[in-house]
Amino acid sequence: MPADDVATLDPDSMTVDQVHHTMQAHLTCDTVRCPYRRTALQVLVRDGRYVLATA
Ligand SMILES: [Zn+2]
Repeated sequence: MPADDVATLDPDSMTVDQVHHTMQAHLTCDTVRCPYRRTALQVLVRDGRYVLATA
């Protein structure tokens, strides 16, 4: 299993698979503290797959 699956922190170079893998791996992380979770979220929001709660 390749360890570099979640190594990228560049939202533009992340594949959908990588994003989902990252979200699973960092499911319990704090978005503010974890750059991996933050990056994955950025991609999801950019692609319209996830809507941040604004209310
Ligand atoms: Zn994390």
